[in-house]
Amino acid sequence: MNLFRRPAPSLDDLILDTAGNDLSSARLMPTVARPPQVFVRGQGSWLWDSDDRAYLDFSQGGAANSLGHSPQVLIKALSDQAQALINPGNGLYNRLQLNLVERLCEHTGSDQGYLLNSGAQACEAAIKLARKWGQLHRGSAYRIITAGNGCHGRSFAAMSASSGGCDNRFEPQLPGFSHVPFNDLPALHAAVDAGTVAIMLEPIQAEAGVIPATEHYLKGVERLCRELGILLILDEVQTGIGRCGALLAEQQYGIRADIITLGKGLGGGVPLAALLARGKACCFEVGELEGTHHGNALMASAGLAVLDTVLERGFLEHVHESGCYLGEGLARLAYRYDHGQLRGQGLMWGLTLSDDSADAVVKAALHEGLILNAPQPNCLRFTPALTVSKSNIDEMLLRLARAFSRVRTAQLQCRKGIAV
Ligand SMILES: *Cc1c(COP(=O)(O)O)cnc(C)c1O
Repeated sequence: MNLFRRPAPSLDDLILDTAGNDLSSARLMPTVARPPQVFVRGQGSWLWDSDDRAYLDFSQGGAANSLGHSPQVLIKALSDQAQALINPGNGLYNRLQLNLVERLCEHTGSDQGYLLNSGAQACEAAIKLARKWGQLHRGSAYRIITAGNGCHGRSFAAMSASSGGCDNRFEPQLPGFSHVPFNDLPALHAAVDAGTVAIMLEPIQAEAGVIPATEHYLKGVERLCRELGILLILDEVQTGIGRCGALLAEQQYGIRADIITLGKGLGGGVPLAALLARGKACCFEVGELEGTHHGNALMASAGLAVLDTVLERGFLEHVHESGCYLGEGLARLAYRYDHGQLRGQGLMWGLTLSDDSADAVVKAALHEGLILNAPQPNCLRFTPALTVSKSNIDEMLLRLARAFSRVRTAQLQCRKGIAV
C-alpha cells in the first residue's frame, strides 16, 4: 500500500463552514467521537456553530470552562499577559507561575505546588512524587491503591491507576497499582500491605457517573493513611476550584490529603493543571519533574484570573445555590420521565437513566440546542459554567425535557415497528 496515495476524503467526510471552506475532518485521527457541527464562538453558557445556531452548553469542555465561554476576566488576563510575556521557558522564573503557586498554597493550606498542562500530567506527577517518597521513607515501597471505576487520565501511569481504564490493546500496563471497590473500607484495609505507599482517590468519581465518596469512607481512608504512615492522594482535577461549591471537595468532607491534583476548571478553558503537596510529601528535588510548558506564564495568568474570580465574595455561594436549583430541576424531570438516581454536589451532577439511552439523549439534546455529556451508557453528566444563571438552568431543563420526549417517541416507534 502506498501510504502517500491516501484516498481523497469522501463528501461525507467534508464539513463546510458558512463561507464554503472545507473543514474536512478526514485527516484528524478519529480517536474521539464527535458530532458533525463545528463550533466557532462562545459566550458564557452559550456556544454557536458555523451555521450560527446557538447551543446551551452544560458540559463546558468537560468541566474545564469554569467561568463559561470567553469570560472578560480571562480575555483580559490572557491578552495582557500575551502582550507582556508568553513563555520565558520552564528553566526560568516567571512571576505568574510563582504567584499562582503561592495563591493556591495559601488558599488550600498546602506547602508546595507545581504547574502542569493537563490533569493526567498532574496525576502522573502525583504518582511520581509518591514513589519518590516511598523510596525515601518506606523501604522502596511503591504500590498505590486506587478505586474501582476511578479515572485519572489517559497517559500510561494515569491509565494504569484508573481501574478498567487501561484498554488491553495498550498492554502492558505500568505495574504497581491495585484496585479496590470504591466506598468499601474493609476492602481497602485488606489491600494495604508493607509494599503500599499511597491511596489515590477521586472524592467524587466523575467518569464513573458522578459517584460521591461517602463521608464515612473518606474519613476512614484518611485515618487509615495516618495510622499506617502512607500518603493520601486526592484527585481533584474535576471536583476542585469551586466545582462542588467549595474551593476543594476535601474541605466539604473535612479531610486533608497529602497530595492533591488539580486541572480542568483551574485554567478556565486553557490547558493548566497543578500538583499540590503538604508536609512530609514535599520531597521532589531538582531534575525530578519538568516539562516544556510547565508553569507557562500565559496559562498561569489564566489560572490567577480564575482563582481570583472563584474566591470573590459570594461566588462559591452562587455555585452552591445554583447547584441546588439545578439538582431540584433535574430531580423533577427525572421523576416525570421515570429516570433513576441523581447524584452530585455543587455544579457537578450525574443522572442515571432507566436504560442505556444516554448517547441517544445526548444526540437528541444536541438537536434541541443543548450540549451534554454521557460518561456512562446509562448516565448523563451536567457540568455547566460555575457562573450559570437560573434562566440558563430553566432553559436547559426545557431542552432536556424535549430531548427525553424525542428519545421516548423513537423508542416507542421502534417497539411498535418490532410488534408489527
Ligand atoms: C479529567 C480528569 C483527569 C484527566 O485530566 P486531563 O486534563 O484530561 O488529562 C484526571 N482525573 C480526573 C478526576 C478527571 O476528571
